[in-house]
Amino acid sequence: MGRAYGRVSRHKLREELLRRCHLHIFVTPRGKESLHEYYVSTLTYMIGICRCASAGVKYLESKVERIVEETDKGSVVSCTNGMLISCRLVTAASGAASGRFLNYERGGPEICVQTAYGIEVNVELCPYDSQAMVFMDYRDYLGGGEDGPPSFLYVMPMSSTQVFFEETCLAARPLLSFQKLKERLHARLRKMNVKITELLEEEWSYIPVGVAIPDTTQQHLGFGAAASMVHPATGYSVVRSLSEAPSYAAAIASALRAKPGNQLVRVPDISAKAAALQAWNALWPKERKRQRAFFMFGLELILQLDVHGIRMFFSTFFQLPEWLWKGFLAANLSSAELLWFALMTFMVAPNDLRYRLVRHLMMDSSGSNLIRMYTSL
Ligand SMILES: Cc1cc2nc3c(=O)[nH]c(=O)nc-3n(C[C@H](O)[C@H](O)[C@H](O)COP(=O)(O)OP(=O)(O)OC[C@H]3O[C@@H](n4cnc5c(N)ncnc54)[C@H](O)[C@@H]3O)c2cc1C
Repeated sequence: MGRAYGRVSRHKLREELLRRCHLHIFVTPRGKESLHEYYVSTLTYMIGICRCASAGVKYLESKVERIVEETDKGSVVSCTNGMLISCRLVTAASGAASGRFLNYERGGPEICVQTAYGIEVNVELCPYDSQAMVFMDYRDYLGGGEDGPPSFLYVMPMSSTQVFFEETCLAARPLLSFQKLKERLHARLRKMNVKITELLEEEWSYIPVGVAIPDTTQQHLGFGAAASMVHPATGYSVVRSLSEAPSYAAAIASALRAKPGNQLVRVPDISAKAAALQAWNALWPKERKRQRAFFMFGLELILQLDVHGIRMFFSTFFQLPEWLWKGFLAANLSSAELLWFALMTFMVAPNDLRYRLVRHLMMDSSGSNLIRMYTSL
């Protein structure tokens, strides 16, 4: 991948975040007014913790049950411990299953899921270079005898004998079960003569991808997976959330202050709905929706490919100029650059893949949606 990798100790990260939370609760004086923003997510909390502390945000330990009231002045959030919180704007950052708090666009495709099963192990001998990460090993280890959607191996060596192996199914509808992934991983390792001497840790990953985008006219805001910020074709979201959090927070702050004529007004004078519309527009502008239509097109194509098709797809993908494939994975290509990506893919692809791409564009609903999004400027 041409970039450095580091490993974060989740135990130490958790300890550090909790330490900061406790510190924060003690040092932040409680204001008399109700909270203007209430963030539900730990991730969002991590992102904003330092700035939030100086801005007077409080961290409350409970679970949000529902949003009980919605008026033009704001909403009331009800928590499981009986606490009621009045907010000007609610931002649900409660992960992928946030249907209780947010409305989503209807009529899109059914969601699909990226599943992965990983193990950190000591082995006698690892066939991979201990200095390199392996992003996707799609080699056929079962001699074409795979049933179900294709999966690949991800390898992160800690040393020449301590290695993290993960069998991942990029996207499937219905999902590929953990049991199946586990069987495939062990079959693959056996085939490569990898002898495990000690199992150190197991990991199960379940990431819904290609979920509908939120209804951007609603009064409650979302962020992270709750706001469908997970890349439909890769399952990544963390970097996007981290990088967009400051501008989104600034957009919310500006929406609460905005007024025709550019005069600052008191917060209660601004309609919560109008502020929410502005904030949603900052998170999901038309440009983002176009990019997403492109990724959804890619996702639906991947779902239809068997292991040979997937291999053909990725060998084409990694022949593209580096800025294009890296930009696609990082979701930082503009909608115009994505058109360039499509053109280059078509030029590099073998005829079989070209045919599949054109057929997919013409016959699949993600293709017609893509055309609609790109032509409705
Ligand atoms: C094993 C594994 C590996 C992964 N690897 C990667 C990777 O390499 N790169 C990447 O980008 N993504 C990765 N992901 C996916 C990534 O972790 C998620 O997409 C990301 O965590 C979503 O962040 P989020 O804050 O939006 O939601 P979440 O991380 O789901 O956080 C939501 C939070 O809200 C809390 N919550 C939910 N409901 C309520 C409620 N009612 N009241 C109060 N709190 C509530 C939850 O407890 C949770 O803490 C991985 C996922 C797994 C499981």
